[in-house]
Amino acid sequence: MSNNHLMNTYSQWPVTFVGGEGAYLKDDKGDAYLDFVGGIAVNALGYKHEGLAAAIREVLDSGVLHVSNLYYNAHVLEAAKKLAALSGMEKVFFCNSGAEANEAALKLARKWGSGKNKSTIISMLDSFHGRTYAAVTATGQKKYHQHFAPLPPGFVYAHFNDLDSVKALVDERTCAVIVEPIQGEGGIVPATKEFLHGLRDLCDRHELLLIYDEVQCGMGRSGKPFAHQLYGVKPDILTTAKALAGGVPAGAMLTQGEASDVFVPGDHASTFGGNALAARAIIYMCDTLQEKAFLSHVEAMGNYLRMKLEELKVQFSDLITAVRGVGLINGIALAIPPKEVVAKCFEKKLLLASAGSNVVRFVPPLIITEKEIDAAVKILQESLSEVRS
Ligand SMILES: *Cc1c(COP(=O)(O)O)cnc(C)c1O
Repeated sequence: MSNNHLMNTYSQWPVTFVGGEGAYLKDDKGDAYLDFVGGIAVNALGYKHEGLAAAIREVLDSGVLHVSNLYYNAHVLEAAKKLAALSGMEKVFFCNSGAEANEAALKLARKWGSGKNKSTIISMLDSFHGRTYAAVTATGQKKYHQHFAPLPPGFVYAHFNDLDSVKALVDERTCAVIVEPIQGEGGIVPATKEFLHGLRDLCDRHELLLIYDEVQCGMGRSGKPFAHQLYGVKPDILTTAKALAGGVPAGAMLTQGEASDVFVPGDHASTFGGNALAARAIIYMCDTLQEKAFLSHVEAMGNYLRMKLEELKVQFSDLITAVRGVGLINGIALAIPPKEVVAKCFEKKLLLASAGSNVVRFVPPLIITEKEIDAAVKILQESLSEVRS
């Protein structure tokens, strides 16, 4: 048993953070760490962000942190409006996390299908949709299902980026397809254009709802407000969370078309969903993503990082097998366990996280600079050299 009272659900690095600024976190000994994890794609604006802090302070000063969804609060109305504008979707359901957003999407799909006797959900192998029962069942990875049987029925799994494998699963009982436009936890794998377009066609032809899980790749990380906007193909339901409120817990499910009219009062709810403080932070994030310069920075820094990683791939061709990603969601596939590299970098005060079984992932704050990318790549280079020797 460990010497603290936290339940043993994470294997944790021996560091306690007490502050931060920009892309750096500071621990309780005063040491600074360059952060390429960003709370796992949450802290898009980095740390000690004055604008975000001022927005949140407004809510604190109003004296009302929370208003029941039995009433409106001004922030939630504006947050929904801005998020709809940013995504091109129509209606928003707010909740508190990625799993909850997907849970809402899956319940909506089931209700939509209930009158048509359609209930089967197709999801992708190596996907990740969260840890609640339906979300974890949609997650196409056995390791997350183990020990939790019985799982809710009606989920089947296709291969990501393999349209034929999806087609093979569609029958008269199918109601929806859920997919990450860029697989995150599965190892940073962008969907191909053909795949997303093919899924849209397939869903249109068979009358299925198409759900995009943009919990990780949404909110500016791809260089667009939402990753699917790079592909020019829209879903019926869009879920997002992680960076949605810049570090305040929040999730959202967005809909357009028929999917917007499925839920009525009583069907689904969340006490904290659309909480005033979270909603104000969402407004701030939406305003930030509205700025062209902000997203071109993400695009430019992503290009720069991938160029640097490609250089490393040449130098370490025995260790790095691939460089993948878009915007500031990137990964390198390794021929060795990523943990070794992540541990070396941690010693040198660079925070990195793995993804899948063989990928080191880079999801830094979106405000990351060229200089910070250089510093991270230098540490990574030293670490790879040490691992090799
Ligand atoms: C992190 C993640 C989730 C789960 O989000 P939580 O907030 O941890 O529940 C769902 N889908 C994707 C794609 C994610 O990356």
